[in-house]
Amino acid sequence: MAKPRLLSGDRTTGKLHLGHLAGSLQNRVQLQDEYDTWLLLADVQALTTHYDRPQGLAESVRQIATDYLAAGIDPEKTTLFVQSQIPEIAELTILFSMFVTVSSLRHNPTIKAEAKERGYKDLYYGFLGYPVSQAADIAFCKAQLVPVGEDNVPHVEQARKIVRRFNALYGPVLVEPQVKVGDTPRLSGLDGAGKMSKSRGNAICLDATTAEIHTSLRQARTDPLRLTRFDPGHPDTCTVFSYHEAFRAEEANAIREECQTGRLGCQSCKGLIADGIDHILAPMRDRRREALKHPDRIDEILQAGTSHARAVAAHTMEEVRDVMHMNYFSARLSKGAST
Ligand code: SF4
Repeated sequence: MAKPRLLSGDRTTGKLHLGHLAGSLQNRVQLQDEYDTWLLLADVQALTTHYDRPQGLAESVRQIATDYLAAGIDPEKTTLFVQSQIPEIAELTILFSMFVTVSSLRHNPTIKAEAKERGYKDLYYGFLGYPVSQAADIAFCKAQLVPVGEDNVPHVEQARKIVRRFNALYGPVLVEPQVKVGDTPRLSGLDGAGKMSKSRGNAICLDATTAEIHTSLRQARTDPLRLTRFDPGHPDTCTVFSYHEAFRAEEANAIREECQTGRLGCQSCKGLIADGIDHILAPMRDRRREALKHPDRIDEILQAGTSHARAVAAHTMEEVRDVMHMNYFSARLSKGAST
Protein backbone atom coordinates (compact mmCIF):
# COMPACT_ATOMS: atom_id res chain seq x y z
CA MET A 1 0.00 0.00 0.00
CA ALA A 2 1.30 3.47 -0.89
CA LYS A 3 2.48 5.54 2.03
CA PRO A 4 0.53 8.76 2.71
CA ARG A 5 2.29 11.84 1.40
CA LEU A 6 3.73 14.38 3.83
CA LEU A 7 4.89 17.85 2.85
CA SER A 8 7.21 20.04 4.84
CA GLY A 9 10.07 22.41 4.04
CA ASP A 10 11.89 25.63 4.75
CA ARG A 11 12.24 29.06 3.25
CA THR A 12 15.74 29.31 1.86
CA THR A 13 16.90 32.33 3.81
CA GLY A 14 20.13 30.84 5.18
CA LYS A 15 21.57 27.96 7.13
CA LEU A 16 19.34 25.99 9.49
CA HIS A 17 19.84 26.20 13.25
CA LEU A 18 18.90 24.40 16.45
CA GLY A 19 15.40 25.88 16.33
CA HIS A 20 14.79 24.06 13.04
CA LEU A 21 16.28 20.85 14.43
CA ALA A 22 14.08 20.81 17.52
CA GLY A 23 10.99 22.21 15.79
CA SER A 24 10.82 20.08 12.67
CA LEU A 25 13.96 18.45 11.35
CA GLN A 26 14.30 15.66 13.94
CA ASN A 27 10.65 14.86 13.42
CA ARG A 28 11.00 14.73 9.63
CA VAL A 29 13.90 12.30 9.89
CA GLN A 30 11.70 9.96 11.93
CA LEU A 31 8.64 10.37 9.72
CA GLN A 32 10.43 9.65 6.43
CA ASP A 33 10.08 5.88 7.07
CA GLU A 34 6.36 6.11 7.68
CA TYR A 35 5.39 8.69 5.04
CA ASP A 36 6.16 9.50 1.44
CA THR A 37 8.01 12.59 2.61
CA TRP A 38 8.48 15.65 0.40
CA LEU A 39 10.67 18.54 1.47
CA LEU A 40 10.24 21.87 -0.24
CA LEU A 41 13.14 24.30 -0.53
CA ALA A 42 10.99 27.41 -0.68
CA ASP A 43 13.14 29.87 -2.58
CA VAL A 44 10.17 31.83 -4.00
CA GLN A 45 8.74 32.25 -0.51
CA ALA A 46 12.18 33.38 0.68
CA LEU A 47 11.65 36.35 -1.64
CA THR A 48 8.57 37.46 0.33
CA THR A 49 11.06 39.00 2.77
CA HIS A 50 14.34 38.79 0.82
CA TYR A 51 13.21 40.06 -2.60
CA ASP A 52 16.14 42.50 -2.64
CA ARG A 53 18.76 39.75 -2.06
CA PRO A 54 18.22 37.09 -4.75
CA GLN A 55 21.96 36.60 -5.17
CA GLY A 56 22.01 34.60 -1.90
CA LEU A 57 19.31 32.13 -2.96
CA ALA A 58 21.46 29.55 -4.76
CA GLU A 59 23.83 29.25 -1.82
CA SER A 60 20.96 29.01 0.65
CA VAL A 61 19.28 26.25 -1.36
CA ARG A 62 22.47 24.16 -1.26
CA GLN A 63 23.16 24.97 2.39
CA ILE A 64 19.72 23.81 3.45
CA ALA A 65 19.90 20.69 1.29
CA THR A 66 23.24 19.93 2.99
CA ASP A 67 21.68 20.56 6.41
CA TYR A 68 18.92 18.08 5.54
CA LEU A 69 21.39 15.39 4.53
CA ALA A 70 23.52 16.09 7.60
CA ALA A 71 20.47 15.71 9.85
CA GLY A 72 19.73 12.28 8.40
CA ILE A 73 17.24 13.00 5.61
CA ASP A 74 17.66 10.15 3.15
CA PRO A 75 17.09 11.14 -0.50
CA GLU A 76 16.13 7.52 -1.22
CA LYS A 77 13.12 7.98 1.05
CA THR A 78 12.48 11.72 0.76
CA THR A 79 11.85 13.91 -2.28
CA LEU A 80 13.82 17.16 -2.04
CA PHE A 81 12.69 19.80 -4.53
CA VAL A 82 13.12 23.49 -5.32
CA GLN A 83 9.98 25.60 -5.42
CA SER A 84 10.94 28.03 -8.21
CA GLN A 85 11.67 25.13 -10.55
CA ILE A 86 8.02 23.97 -10.44
CA PRO A 87 6.16 26.63 -12.46
CA GLU A 88 2.90 24.75 -11.87
CA ILE A 89 3.02 25.97 -8.24
CA ALA A 90 2.96 29.57 -9.49
CA GLU A 91 0.13 28.71 -11.88
CA LEU A 92 -1.94 27.15 -9.12
CA THR A 93 -1.22 30.12 -6.83
CA ILE A 94 -2.73 32.47 -9.42
CA LEU A 95 -5.80 30.30 -9.90
CA PHE A 96 -6.36 30.09 -6.14
CA SER A 97 -5.88 33.84 -5.74
CA MET A 98 -9.06 34.46 -7.80
CA PHE A 99 -11.27 33.30 -4.95
CA VAL A 100 -9.24 34.16 -1.83
CA THR A 101 -10.26 37.48 -0.33
CA VAL A 102 -7.75 40.11 0.74
CA SER A 103 -9.48 40.44 4.11
CA SER A 104 -9.03 36.71 4.85
CA LEU A 105 -5.31 37.16 4.25
CA ARG A 106 -5.10 40.34 6.28
CA HIS A 107 -6.77 38.54 9.20
CA ASN A 108 -4.40 35.56 9.08
CA PRO A 109 -2.79 35.71 12.58
CA THR A 110 0.63 34.58 11.34
CA ILE A 111 0.70 37.25 8.61
CA LYS A 112 -0.39 39.88 11.12
CA ALA A 113 2.23 38.85 13.69
CA GLU A 114 5.06 38.67 11.17
CA ALA A 115 4.15 42.00 9.53
CA LYS A 116 4.18 43.61 12.99
CA GLU A 117 7.50 42.00 13.90
CA ARG A 118 9.09 43.24 10.67
CA GLY A 119 7.55 46.70 10.96
CA TYR A 120 5.70 46.37 7.64
CA LYS A 121 3.04 49.06 7.25
CA ASP A 122 2.11 48.63 3.60
CA LEU A 123 2.16 44.90 2.84
CA TYR A 124 3.73 43.55 -0.31
CA TYR A 125 1.39 41.54 -2.50
CA GLY A 126 3.63 38.47 -2.30
CA PHE A 127 4.01 38.72 1.47
CA LEU A 128 0.25 39.02 1.97
CA GLY A 129 -0.33 36.16 -0.45
CA TYR A 130 2.06 33.78 1.30
CA PRO A 131 -0.78 31.51 2.53
CA VAL A 132 -2.13 31.21 -1.04
CA SER A 133 1.30 30.21 -2.28
CA GLN A 134 1.58 27.71 0.56
CA ALA A 135 -1.83 26.27 -0.35
CA ALA A 136 -0.50 25.70 -3.87
CA ASP A 137 2.62 23.96 -2.48
CA ILE A 138 0.41 21.57 -0.57
CA ALA A 139 -2.22 21.07 -3.27
CA PHE A 140 0.01 20.47 -6.31
CA CYS A 141 1.55 17.37 -4.74
CA LYS A 142 -1.69 16.28 -3.02
CA ALA A 143 -0.02 16.14 0.39
CA GLN A 144 -2.20 14.39 2.95
CA LEU A 145 -0.29 15.52 6.00
CA VAL A 146 1.44 18.80 6.81
CA PRO A 147 3.37 18.87 10.11
CA VAL A 148 3.76 22.43 11.42
CA GLY A 149 4.69 24.41 14.49
CA GLU A 150 1.97 26.25 16.40
CA ASP A 151 2.59 29.55 14.59
CA ASN A 152 2.08 28.02 11.15
CA VAL A 153 -1.29 26.44 11.90
CA PRO A 154 -3.26 29.44 10.48
CA HIS A 155 -1.47 29.02 7.13
CA VAL A 156 -2.35 25.36 6.82
CA GLU A 157 -5.92 25.99 8.00
CA GLN A 158 -6.21 28.59 5.26
CA ALA A 159 -4.78 26.09 2.76
CA ARG A 160 -7.42 23.56 3.81
CA LYS A 161 -10.15 26.16 3.22
CA ILE A 162 -8.72 27.05 -0.19
CA VAL A 163 -8.66 23.39 -1.25
CA ARG A 164 -12.23 22.86 -0.02
CA ARG A 165 -13.38 25.95 -1.90
CA PHE A 166 -11.59 24.87 -5.08
CA ASN A 167 -13.12 21.39 -4.95
CA ALA A 168 -16.59 22.82 -4.30
CA LEU A 169 -16.33 25.38 -7.12
CA TYR A 170 -14.82 23.24 -9.84
CA GLY A 171 -14.64 19.56 -8.93
CA PRO A 172 -13.08 17.32 -6.28
CA VAL A 173 -9.59 16.83 -7.69
CA LEU A 174 -7.46 18.26 -4.87
CA VAL A 175 -6.70 16.67 -1.51
CA GLU A 176 -7.51 18.48 1.72
CA PRO A 177 -4.47 17.99 3.97
CA GLN A 178 -4.49 17.11 7.64
CA VAL A 179 -2.47 19.31 9.99
CA LYS A 180 -0.11 17.72 12.48
CA VAL A 181 0.89 20.23 15.13
CA GLY A 182 4.29 19.53 16.65
CA ASP A 183 4.47 19.22 20.43
CA THR A 184 7.88 20.92 20.67
CA PRO A 185 7.64 24.53 21.83
CA ARG A 186 9.42 27.09 19.67
CA LEU A 187 13.06 27.36 20.68
CA SER A 188 14.13 30.69 22.19
CA GLY A 189 17.17 32.52 20.92
CA LEU A 190 20.34 32.76 23.00
CA ASP A 191 19.35 36.30 24.04
CA GLY A 192 16.03 35.01 25.41
CA ALA A 193 14.29 37.85 23.55
CA GLY A 194 12.27 35.81 21.08
CA LYS A 195 12.54 32.87 18.74
CA MET A 196 15.91 31.59 17.62
CA SER A 197 16.73 33.24 14.31
CA LYS A 198 19.91 33.61 12.32
CA SER A 199 19.01 37.16 11.26
CA ARG A 200 18.72 38.19 14.92
CA GLY A 201 22.16 36.75 15.66
CA ASN A 202 20.81 34.62 18.49
CA ALA A 203 21.11 31.18 16.88
CA ILE A 204 23.42 28.18 16.94
CA CYS A 205 23.64 26.86 13.39
CA LEU A 206 23.66 23.14 12.68
CA ASP A 207 27.18 23.38 11.28
CA ALA A 208 28.56 24.95 14.49
CA THR A 209 31.86 23.57 15.77
CA THR A 210 32.33 22.37 19.35
CA ALA A 211 34.10 25.62 20.23
CA GLU A 212 31.33 27.74 18.66
CA ILE A 213 28.66 25.89 20.61
CA HIS A 214 30.46 26.47 23.92
CA THR A 215 31.17 30.13 23.13
CA SER A 216 27.54 30.78 22.13
CA LEU A 217 26.17 29.12 25.24
CA ARG A 218 28.50 31.02 27.56
CA GLN A 219 26.71 34.16 26.32
CA ALA A 220 23.21 32.72 26.66
CA ARG A 221 20.71 34.48 28.89
CA THR A 222 19.86 32.75 32.16
CA ASP A 223 17.52 33.47 35.09
CA PRO A 224 17.69 37.27 35.56
CA LEU A 225 16.78 36.92 39.26
CA ARG A 226 19.75 34.70 40.05
CA LEU A 227 22.37 37.19 41.16
CA THR A 228 24.95 34.93 42.82
CA ARG A 229 26.15 31.39 42.24
CA PHE A 230 24.30 30.03 45.30
CA ASP A 231 20.95 31.81 44.82
CA PRO A 232 18.07 29.44 44.05
CA GLY A 233 17.32 29.63 40.31
CA HIS A 234 14.06 29.78 38.38
CA PRO A 235 14.55 27.39 35.47
CA ASP A 236 11.21 28.17 33.86
CA THR A 237 12.41 31.69 33.08
CA CYS A 238 15.85 30.55 31.90
CA THR A 239 16.69 30.17 28.22
CA VAL A 240 19.42 27.65 28.95
CA PHE A 241 16.97 25.42 30.79
CA SER A 242 14.67 25.44 27.75
CA TYR A 243 17.58 23.94 25.79
CA HIS A 244 17.96 21.20 28.40
CA GLU A 245 14.26 20.43 27.95
CA ALA A 246 14.60 20.39 24.16
CA PHE A 247 17.84 18.42 23.83
CA ARG A 248 18.48 16.59 27.13
CA ALA A 249 14.90 15.88 28.16
CA GLU A 250 15.87 12.86 30.27
CA GLU A 251 18.17 15.02 32.44
CA ALA A 252 15.90 18.08 32.64
CA ASN A 253 14.20 17.18 35.94
CA ALA A 254 17.54 16.70 37.69
CA ILE A 255 18.81 20.04 36.30
CA ARG A 256 15.62 21.76 37.45
CA GLU A 257 16.05 20.44 40.98
CA GLU A 258 19.74 21.32 41.22
CA CYS A 259 19.06 24.80 39.86
CA GLN A 260 16.17 25.49 42.22
CA THR A 261 18.22 24.44 45.23
CA GLY A 262 21.23 26.49 44.13
CA ARG A 263 23.48 23.42 43.90
CA LEU A 264 24.20 23.91 40.18
CA GLY A 265 25.98 27.03 38.94
CA CYS A 266 25.02 28.60 35.61
CA GLN A 267 28.44 28.13 34.02
CA SER A 268 28.43 24.39 34.82
CA CYS A 269 24.85 24.13 33.61
CA LYS A 270 25.80 25.81 30.34
CA GLY A 271 28.74 23.43 29.97
CA LEU A 272 26.41 20.45 30.35
CA ILE A 273 24.01 21.61 27.67
CA ALA A 274 26.87 22.63 25.37
CA ASP A 275 28.22 19.07 25.64
CA GLY A 276 24.73 17.67 25.05
CA ILE A 277 24.18 19.75 21.91
CA ASP A 278 27.67 18.95 20.68
CA HIS A 279 26.88 15.25 21.13
CA ILE A 280 23.78 15.65 18.93
CA LEU A 281 25.59 17.65 16.25
CA ALA A 282 28.68 15.37 16.11
CA PRO A 283 27.17 12.68 13.82
CA MET A 284 25.70 15.46 11.70
CA ARG A 285 29.20 16.84 11.19
CA ASP A 286 30.33 13.47 9.81
CA ARG A 287 27.42 13.30 7.38
CA ARG A 288 27.95 16.94 6.39
CA ARG A 289 31.64 16.30 5.68
CA GLU A 290 30.68 13.32 3.54
CA ALA A 291 28.02 15.33 1.64
CA LEU A 292 30.41 18.23 1.01
CA LYS A 293 33.00 15.88 -0.46
CA HIS A 294 30.59 15.44 -3.40
CA PRO A 295 28.92 18.81 -4.06
CA ASP A 296 27.67 17.62 -7.47
CA ARG A 297 25.75 14.90 -5.68
CA ILE A 298 23.72 17.55 -3.81
CA ASP A 299 22.72 19.14 -7.12
CA GLU A 300 21.85 15.71 -8.52
CA ILE A 301 19.62 14.98 -5.54
CA LEU A 302 17.84 18.32 -5.95
CA GLN A 303 17.45 17.85 -9.69
CA ALA A 304 16.09 14.32 -9.34
CA GLY A 305 13.62 15.38 -6.62
CA THR A 306 12.53 18.42 -8.62
CA SER A 307 11.97 16.33 -11.78
CA HIS A 308 9.85 13.90 -9.82
CA ALA A 309 7.85 16.79 -8.30
CA ARG A 310 7.36 18.37 -11.75
CA ALA A 311 5.92 15.17 -13.15
CA VAL A 312 3.40 15.06 -10.31
CA ALA A 313 2.69 18.78 -10.76
CA ALA A 314 2.00 18.35 -14.48
CA HIS A 315 -0.50 15.60 -13.73
CA THR A 316 -2.27 17.66 -11.07
CA MET A 317 -2.47 20.69 -13.36
CA GLU A 318 -4.02 18.57 -16.12
CA GLU A 319 -6.78 17.68 -13.66
CA VAL A 320 -7.08 21.27 -12.47
CA ARG A 321 -7.38 22.65 -16.02
CA ASP A 322 -9.90 19.94 -16.89
CA VAL A 323 -12.28 20.79 -14.06
CA MET A 324 -11.79 24.52 -14.73
CA HIS A 325 -12.60 24.01 -18.46
CA MET A 326 -9.21 25.45 -19.37
CA ASN A 327 -7.75 22.52 -21.30
CA TYR A 328 -8.48 24.31 -24.57
CA PHE A 329 -6.02 22.61 -26.84
CA SER A 330 -5.16 19.20 -25.40
CA ALA A 331 -8.07 17.32 -27.11
CA ARG A 332 -7.34 18.96 -30.46
CA LEU A 333 -3.59 18.40 -30.07
CA SER A 334 -4.01 14.70 -29.28
CA LYS A 335 -6.45 14.38 -32.21
CA GLY A 336 -3.90 16.11 -34.45
CA ALA A 337 -1.17 13.82 -33.16
CA SER A 338 -3.15 10.72 -34.08
CA THR A 339 -3.77 11.81 -37.69
S1 SF4 B 1 21.54 26.73 36.67
FE1 SF4 B 1 21.01 26.38 34.56
S2 SF4 B 1 18.80 26.35 34.54
FE2 SF4 B 1 19.42 27.33 36.47
S3 SF4 B 1 19.42 29.52 36.01
FE3 SF4 B 1 21.51 28.75 35.71
S4 SF4 B 1 21.60 28.27 33.51
FE4 SF4 B 1 19.47 28.43 34.08
